[in-house]
Amino acid sequence: MTRPLLPNLSSYVLKLEEIWKSGWMTNGGKQNSDLVEVLRTRLRCANVATFNNGTTALLLALRALRLRGEVVTTPFTFPATTHAIDWAGLTPVFADIDARTGCLDPAAVEAAVTKDTSAILAVHVFGIPCDVEALGAIAKKHGLKLIYDAAHAFGVEVGGRAIGSYGDISMFSLHATKLFHTAEGGALTFRDASLAKDLHLLHNFGIADEDHVAMSGINGKMNELQAALGLCVMEVLDEEYAKRATVVKRYRDQLRNVPGVECMLPGPGVRPSMQYMPVRIGPESHSDRDAMFNGMRQQNIMSRRYFRPLCSSIEPYAHLPSAAPQGLPNAVGLEKEILCLPLHGGLKDEDVDRVCEVLVAGSAK
Ligand SMILES: *Cc1c(COP(=O)(O)O)cnc(C)c1O
Repeated sequence: MTRPLLPNLSSYVLKLEEIWKSGWMTNGGKQNSDLVEVLRTRLRCANVATFNNGTTALLLALRALRLRGEVVTTPFTFPATTHAIDWAGLTPVFADIDARTGCLDPAAVEAAVTKDTSAILAVHVFGIPCDVEALGAIAKKHGLKLIYDAAHAFGVEVGGRAIGSYGDISMFSLHATKLFHTAEGGALTFRDASLAKDLHLLHNFGIADEDHVAMSGINGKMNELQAALGLCVMEVLDEEYAKRATVVKRYRDQLRNVPGVECMLPGPGVRPSMQYMPVRIGPESHSDRDAMFNGMRQQNIMSRRYFRPLCSSIEPYAHLPSAAPQGLPNAVGLEKEILCLPLHGGLKDEDVDRVCEVLVAGSAK
């Protein structure tokens, strides 16, 4: 469905030569500080920290905010979102999504807040921004921390404002399947500069200095090989983004009038992430989502039924009261309709046309 963005090997080899000369492999070397600088500019946020992967970054974000009790979150996400809450010793409370955006419905979030709630963990799913204004207002009103899983939202802007500038902390996954990546990796942007110290301790075993271990930390460090790869990927990112924009436009044009096949797109004023190409297979289509999925498989076209199963129906969390499907009708409905189509810069016009042919035929049959 996607293809990792590979930089020029020769540019990576040059970075590797730098690393070899320095003899410095990890623990915040030059590559890491260079990458942090680049991310500051790209994500337009003064406070940036890097991690070995996005899941650890999210876990440590929750720990650094010293949360307790319950965290209101979405069931329509990758399991790492819910797992991070669980690993931080907190209880996930699922609230329903807005059927149009796939992101948390602010009214459902507010209804889920109890005296034990300490935070909201929302996801900009498929890079479509959450209702950041409404969620910000709810967090403020109830004195809650607001964390965004922005794993799908690298480079997204809302009305010219960088997505990572909303809420207390945002997490960007830099996994190879994400548009910008370091093979494995993660980054946090955060509003309060004083969080930097605890985040640093938490990602390095809590070690403050030779004599003091100040916190129960973990090993969450990004190494120099990862950071160097990220610097090289950054050099080819704009080119890839432009190629993907062409692919997305072709999908949109071809699918515009296909009954029951609707491209899920961010609203006006949003700079899209170009990371996923989600379409909804609705009731007006003759074939349902699974039939479309299987039809593509038969033609060796890989699509993905994200996010299936919902996090509220997977084994570790299905027993929670908030996980009951009756309370999550929009999530249950959307989960059965979404298909993420192939999207990467290497796709040719003919490839996009072949994918669309399956959708057109399935819709009419
Ligand atoms: C990819 C992803 C993560 C996990 O990130 P890793 O870097 O793979 O640990 C978390 N949340 C969402 C929504 C993701 O898509």
